[in-house]
Amino acid sequence: LPPVPPAAEPENRLLAALPAAEYARLVGEMTAVPFAPGDVVYYAGGPLRHVYFPRSGAFSLLAVLPDGAVAAVGSVGSEGLLGLAAFHGAARCRTMTVCHLCPCTAWRMPGDRFQRESGRPGPLRELLHRYARALFDQVTQSAACHALHTVPQRCATWLLQCRDRTGGDFPLTHESLARMLGVRRASVTESARALQALGLIRYRRGRVEVLDAGGLAAAACPCYRLGRDDLDRLA
Ligand SMILES: [Zn+2]
Repeated sequence: LPPVPPAAEPENRLLAALPAAEYARLVGEMTAVPFAPGDVVYYAGGPLRHVYFPRSGAFSLLAVLPDGAVAAVGSVGSEGLLGLAAFHGAARCRTMTVCHLCPCTAWRMPGDRFQRESGRPGPLRELLHRYARALFDQVTQSAACHALHTVPQRCATWLLQCRDRTGGDFPLTHESLARMLGVRRASVTESARALQALGLIRYRRGRVEVLDAGGLAAAACPCYRLGRDDLDRLA
């Protein structure tokens, strides 16, 4: 199970799939913005002033409950777009959106321009429809995952997904992993220890290295392979 090879130059795959002239026209007026893990792109219920096309790293879509509890319901990297609700006419973002993997940069486009560009028939609109279906599938799968799969399985899946997005080792704290999975920190610590004891990962100074991707995939829930197949189909 080799990691998905990172692109030579980080780029957003939706934009890269556009005809060259269309790509140049859209990117020419966008700003490259860096993010660090923990940076909040949108607060739940916050305005969608801009949309972002990630070029590297990854962001979590977090459902926020009235008591403040959160759980990740989706993940977006260079295959996608942050602020997709704007494509469907929404002025506000329902999920909190947080950077969770670096190095992370994204192209930023003002929301009103995005509404105009994505509103007219053309390749961008087609790509966004396709991506919206893929993200809906991902969130559907994530709902089943939360209900049916164990914390150790879900930890293994999450770690593999992080590895696939970075192509190497990556920073992670038990707090952030627990937050993403919507579980207690103690259960995450226990799961990470077990995976390390099996020689599948190494966790050192806040960074995780996957030592045995095949073994980790065997410990993961089926959502890992399903998600990876979906990403391959989008590519
Ligand atoms: Zn699962």
